[in-house]
Amino acid sequence: MPQITTDAVDELDDRALTALDRCDSCGAQAYVRVTLASGELLFCAHHGTKFKDKLAGTALGWHDESDRLQDAR
Ligand SMILES: [Zn+2]
Repeated sequence: MPQITTDAVDELDDRALTALDRCDSCGAQAYVRVTLASGELLFCAHHGTKFKDKLAGTALGWHDESDRLQDAR
């Protein structure tokens, strides 16, 4: 009987944002990943904050690494 693993899903939820992830609004490096029923959106720290009020009600998940931005400076 085949082993069905949920690792892929867990990995998706936990995976860190990288320099290759870009804000959907301005193209800057993304530090916020919003999971919606329809898919994912990536935002930079600026747009993550900007859209938070708008999307917080419908977002299934909110992955915010903007703290990392502070650490880097
Ligand atoms: Zn942006």
